[in-house]
Amino acid sequence: MIGKGDHCGVFGIGLSPRAAQITHHALYALQHRGQESAGIVAGGEGGVEIHRGMGLVSEVFDADVLGRLARGTDLAVGHVRYSTTGESSLANAQPLLVRYRRGHLALAHNGNLVNAPALREELEREGSIFQTTLDTEVVAHLVARLSDNGPEQALATSLARVRGGYALVALADRKLIGVRDPSGIRPLALGRLGKAFVLASESCAFDTVGAEFLREVGPGEMVVVEGDRLRSLPALPPGRPALCVFEFIYIARPDSNLHGLNVHAVRKELGRRLARAHPVAADIVTGVPDSSISAASGYAEAAGIPYEMGLVKNRYIGRTFIQPCQEARDLGVTLKLNPLRKVVDGRRVVLVDDSIVRGTTSRHIVRLLREAGAREVHLRIASPPYRWPCYFGIDTSSREELVAAERDVEEVRRLVGADSLAYLNLEDLVDGVKAGGLCLACFDGDYPVPVFDAAGGR
Ligand code: SF4
Repeated sequence: MIGKGDHCGVFGIGLSPRAAQITHHALYALQHRGQESAGIVAGGEGGVEIHRGMGLVSEVFDADVLGRLARGTDLAVGHVRYSTTGESSLANAQPLLVRYRRGHLALAHNGNLVNAPALREELEREGSIFQTTLDTEVVAHLVARLSDNGPEQALATSLARVRGGYALVALADRKLIGVRDPSGIRPLALGRLGKAFVLASESCAFDTVGAEFLREVGPGEMVVVEGDRLRSLPALPPGRPALCVFEFIYIARPDSNLHGLNVHAVRKELGRRLARAHPVAADIVTGVPDSSISAASGYAEAAGIPYEMGLVKNRYIGRTFIQPCQEARDLGVTLKLNPLRKVVDGRRVVLVDDSIVRGTTSRHIVRLLREAGAREVHLRIASPPYRWPCYFGIDTSSREELVAAERDVEEVRRLVGADSLAYLNLEDLVDGVKAGGLCLACFDGDYPVPVFDAAGGR
């Protein structure tokens, strides 16, 4: 369990007179991808409107704000954020809106650009003044310098200079633009809602707004919506296909589909494989809500052990308790998860979690179950040991933070306090997901794009 919200969600729509309201609804569906801040930029013939705020979508927007965003607008981009780069502050909330020679440019971005620090330094040396610590602002500056070109060309030329994993939606020149990095590390789906086209990090947002899923935006592809027309441009030379496998393991909602595969079904299969590889005598199987429930149900099914709700989640905790620092995470776990004593007391429990990253959350949950009377706690992880930091949009940027980086399974077991611990192996993960072209770098260190700049200019 990485810690709720270690990534971002993006959405875009053009053209619809209800663009702002639809984007607002879509952000609710993408809330699991980030709870620190939310924002919408809506554009029309008369200009643009922006609103961004700290907190959950329900905290950031009210009827007055939505009324202002909706007035005279027919294009919109929205964003929910968890900080992976850049501190948590309103200045760093997205979408980013800048005014340059050709007009307004709004950018909403999910992912990390590994060479953003080097590009920022270069731009600053040449006189650029930055207002945020966002990678996205680097792209905005690069685009602004190419203002003689149209936004599509300027974006493509700018993105050719950046390396990393990203899905980006933009508004400029009355156009909605979506782009994915050359390896397709971060997801971006394309859909249709009546005559309007929609773009979203996950297909579950389409279900929420009643849109039809058309296809995924391809690696390196740019889609441009102008009026009711859609164009596809091969903006960037394709790289090694490498969709983040963590989308399947943890990030995406179970009702989303990626590469044509339902996320819940994939997680359940990972749980089945985990049970077959690492059986244990136990009375009940339980999963860490919400991301591990599917894998836990698969484990229970394959093991023939009843699945029980051993942990209850409090769903009504706002951003105060979901902050990107360790103390807040620990406090958040206690407030968010409560063991069901009636279920676990005196029982041998298989606790299924999707991952162990820092180990602190797992230790905390194991302790909660023991305090509630669990006789034994056997921890089963539906992914391999997380050993390498992610530079593409997940909040683990140093190896020291990763509990399995330098420890073997027995050492991690002792640290988290479980009676036994076992991980899914890499082969079972790859075979279980059944999608080719995955990034597995946090497990095997084989990064699909070079990460030198992110590691301090090595
Ligand atoms: S390193 Fe891991 S978390 Fe990061 S993009 Fe690759 S698979 Fe996803």
